[in-house]
Formats: sequence, structure tokens, C-alpha cells
Amino acid sequence: MYKVGITGGIGSGKTTVCKVFEVLGIPVFYADTEAKDIMMKDSLLIDGIKSTFGAASYFEDGKLNNKHIASIVFNNEAELTKLNALVHPAVFRAFDAWEETISSNVPYTLKEAALLFESGSYKMCDTTILVTAPLETKLKRVMQRDGVSAEQVKARMDRQLSDEEKAKLASHFITNDEEHSIIEQVLCLHRQFLLAAKSN
Ligand code: ATP
Repeated sequence: MYKVGITGGIGSGKTTVCKVFEVLGIPVFYADTEAKDIMMKDSLLIDGIKSTFGAASYFEDGKLNNKHIASIVFNNEAELTKLNALVHPAVFRAFDAWEETISSNVPYTLKEAALLFESGSYKMCDTTILVTAPLETKLKRVMQRDGVSAEQVKARMDRQLSDEEKAKLASHFITNDEEHSIIEQVLCLHRQFLLAAKSN
């Protein structure tokens, strides 16, 4: 199955763009939501997290102890790398299992991931889209959506690759500012992907 990876900085609107693809009948795998889900379901991953970060990583009822994990990985690159090395392969497994459930009549699938490039996940996609928006627009959107300060959004942004770095690895671009229509851009890419998937 032809696979399209889609990413963008925080507040760029990648999830919003994915909703437009969904309207066109394209199934979307939301890697970040899935990651949270499998941290409580994938027994291999749970065992790995417990043995790396301690039994306190989970409460007795099986729920993830976010505060415990965050206190270890926050501002600690080496520990964050360890967590990612456990979570990313588990998300890849979940994506493969999800794809098995998709009808063969579907022309292509979309994988939405904030860390598409950082995780290496883009290498498993046939093509990629980078959603971009001006910094001020991204800040405004996330502050409004999550009720957080500009500083908190910027701190989250600092933990991701810059748009310039991502652009070097991306195949297609969607500009989600206040002047361009995302619907037209999605339709244009959709036509290209239908052709590419056919000849794949
Ligand atoms: P994150 O990485 O934080 O999950 P994201 O890139 O997935 O962010 P979205 O959640 O799609 O971004 O969008 C952020 C906010 O901006 C949402 O509240 C969304 O409704 C709004 N938004 C996105 N695109 C537009 C747009 N073109 N016009 C108006 N609002 C928009």
C-alpha cells in the first residue's frame, strides 16, 4: 500500500490537514495518539519502560505515570533517547498492524507524526508532506487551543527539528497560513498521490 507521511511543527495544523484527507476517504494513522495508547497496551513496550525507568512508571491500575516519566526525560537528552528507542519501534509495529486492517480498495494511507523525520519513520513512507505556518500563527493557535503561554509553546517547539531542517527531507509542502486554502492544496496532492499509488 502506498504510504504518505505527514508532519509539521506544533500548531502548523497537520491534524486539521489530515481531517481533509479523511473526508476524501483516506485512512489516517495518528502516530502520536497511538503512542499514548500503546504505552498502556503493548506488553513488550510496557516491560521495556518498566525495566528502563522503574516499576513506578505505571500505577497499580496499569495507567502510565506520566509525571514519573516526564521527571526523568525532561531536559535529559540521553533519557529521552532511551524512551524514544522503546516507543518508536512499538509505534511502527502498531502502524503495520493497523495497515493490515485497511481495505485493499483504499488507494493510499496517511501516517501523521510530529516526529516523522526525527524518528526515522519517514523512511518507511513512499512520500512525505510538511505542513508549515508562520511562527506567530502557530503560537496563536496553540495558545488558544491548549490555554498555554507563548513561552510554553516555544519550549515545546525547541524540542523539535526546525522547519528548515524538516524541509530538506520533505517531498511536498502545504502552507497553512491565513492566506492559502488547505482544501485546494490537499486536492492537488490527492490527485498526485492517486496517480503515484496506481503506478506504484
Ligand atoms: P500539534 O502538533 O500541537 O498536535 P497540529 O499541527 O496537529 O498541532 P492542529 O491541532 O491541526 O495542529 O491545529 C492547531 C489549532 O489551530 C487547532 O485548534 C486548529 O483548529 C487550528 N487551525 C489549524 N489550521 C487552521 C486554519 N487554517 N484556520 C484556522 N484554525 C486553524
